[in-house]
Amino acid sequence: MSIINAPRGTRDILPAESWKWSYIIKTAGEVMKNFNFSEILIPIFEHTELFSRGVGETTDIVEKEMYTFIDRGERSITLRPEATAGVMRAAIENNLCAQGNFAKLWSWGPMFRYERPQKGRYRQFYQIDAECLGVAGSSADIEIISMSLELFRRLGLKNLEVVLNSVGCEKCRPVYREKLLNYFNAHKKDLCETCLTRLDRNPLRILDCKKENCGKISDDAPDIYESLCDGCRNHFEEVKTGLENLGFAYRINKRLVRGLDYYTKTAFEILSGDLGAQNAVCGGGRYDNLASSIGGGKIPGVGFACGLDRVVIVMEEQNCSFGKIPAPDVFIIANENNKASAQILTYKLRSAGISAVNDIAGRSFKNQMRSAGLCKYACIIDQDKNKNKNKIILKDMAEGSQIEINQDEIINYLNGKL
Ligand code: ATP
Ligand code: MG
Repeated sequence: MSIINAPRGTRDILPAESWKWSYIIKTAGEVMKNFNFSEILIPIFEHTELFSRGVGETTDIVEKEMYTFIDRGERSITLRPEATAGVMRAAIENNLCAQGNFAKLWSWGPMFRYERPQKGRYRQFYQIDAECLGVAGSSADIEIISMSLELFRRLGLKNLEVVLNSVGCEKCRPVYREKLLNYFNAHKKDLCETCLTRLDRNPLRILDCKKENCGKISDDAPDIYESLCDGCRNHFEEVKTGLENLGFAYRINKRLVRGLDYYTKTAFEILSGDLGAQNAVCGGGRYDNLASSIGGGKIPGVGFACGLDRVVIVMEEQNCSFGKIPAPDVFIIANENNKASAQILTYKLRSAGISAVNDIAGRSFKNQMRSAGLCKYACIIDQDKNKNKNKIILKDMAEGSQIEINQDEIINYLNGKL
């Protein structure tokens, strides 16, 4: 029979890698705690409408990247391509922002997009998400951006760039849209095919086009800052000042519009100089109209999504530390005759919160000794030679020194050492 492989664009994160992922998630959890964000777990699939209405019909995600299927109850279901819409849905459904309350939430997990797989781009990928819901003021934007930067600082990422823009709001964006439409219509003949379809549907997206020609045209397109209303302009200035107060450098890019319709005001990305084409490790911004587009009234929000797969790539390239390589503290070595004693002692240590292993595969004494090389201690049960059945040898693998110790004293001894 033929071998069944993982579907295209998915991959297994094997034990040699998964501990690095755990380290990043653990670090993210600590940062979130310091910033007072609480964890939320949301479904991996949602009603398709949540994304078509929330993310936007004319976005790349909804137009061509969603994993959508009809379930056995004949509902249209979509594997989540991003987390923000789901978190907002959960907040609305559970009244987290009722009566002027606000909610600071974070989550992490797999997202699904039907994309062309390449380095840093997969069909199942992972994001760490943070969302601050119910706060309209710029303090929330500053908190979100600084939190993502604090996470990267703790992970030791270097060579990052914060790119910032404002995409306006429902008041000023239509005016800007009109200006853009006029401008791009005048340059219609030089736009790529995709951008031609964007012209009527969503001209802002043309600014985001990676094709050289479209880029050149976009560089000279009308500037959004001239169209921003007072509210959006002030908000943008406050975000910039807030970042400066915290000592963060940023670059303004008027062509940063991001791939999702729900953004208002602040849009930002964090780029890595060590990622090649897929260079964004984090993207985010404000989305004051998302709640109303999914029927939830007025709940402003701002958040970020950090691409875990790409963070791992950058950390590896930059030789960042992932903490300690996981290995048991103690290896209990015994020959076949003492298998039961080894099992009992290992279980005792484990129950006392000490990570311990014994041989379960019938390996020779010599092979067990070799495996113990990764551990802090080797514990040798050699009752054939020893008269006193309670005595074992405890070897400090780093120092090479060894002592004889009673079995019932070993937990106390190790607790003092580990
Ligand atoms: P890109 O321009 O790279 O396609 P995007 O704007 O579609 O990114 P967002 O929706 O903002 O991405 O998602 C936030 C982050 O999630 C990105 O900055 C990136 O790190 C990561 N990401 C997005 N799509 C993928 C993917 N297919 N594979 C791996 N990581 C991804
Ligand atoms: Mg994308």
